[in-house]
Amino acid sequence: MSRTLTDARGWMQQGTKLLLASVDGLAPASYDAPSGLPGWSRRHLVAHVAANADALCNLVHWAATGEKTPMYASLEERAAGIARGARLPAEELAAWTHESSERLETAMAALPFERWQAEVVTAQGRTVPASEIPWMRSRETCVHAVDLATGVGFADLPKEFLAALVVDIKAQRGLDTVPDGRLPDLAAYLAGRPYTLAEAPELGPWL
Ligand code: ZN
Repeated sequence: MSRTLTDARGWMQQGTKLLLASVDGLAPASYDAPSGLPGWSRRHLVAHVAANADALCNLVHWAATGEKTPMYASLEERAAGIARGARLPAEELAAWTHESSERLETAMAALPFERWQAEVVTAQGRTVPASEIPWMRSRETCVHAVDLATGVGFADLPKEFLAALVVDIKAQRGLDTVPDGRLPDLAAYLAGRPYTLAEAPELGPWL
């Protein structure tokens, strides 16, 4: 089963909803608590997700106009943006997350059908059609909604998204086989997140 643009647009919207609800549920003081990602506070993670939406807006602009607008000017600029964002007061950080998500949604909704085939380059230097952008954002919103550690788990993510995620990470990691287990556990395991699979070999980080 291969995912379609419509699938990814839907997962991105569901992931955005989950993510924004989690961010809205955070008390200002709890932004300083650790996220589920080792070494990342929640405020760093929220700043990263907000900055990611802005960065993906750049790619949609690139696809729409042909003007080369990369996600980030450089890896240093990406890190500096997260650090800057993480120093914002909680309300501003939450507002940025909402606004950037809306900007991205609006930009995608306005992208003409034929421009989804336009080629853009990701922050990792991969050349992909613009139709991959919603998939990239689905992963960011869904997986980081779990990483925010507010109670969202992989089992709360759309099943079809998890199935597509397993296919995607299996290919990226070059795995032929994966351990047996329920889909949410398997996806968490492959994504390098805490998992409950028995007898699964340890994997390195992902995303
Ligand atoms: Zn991320």
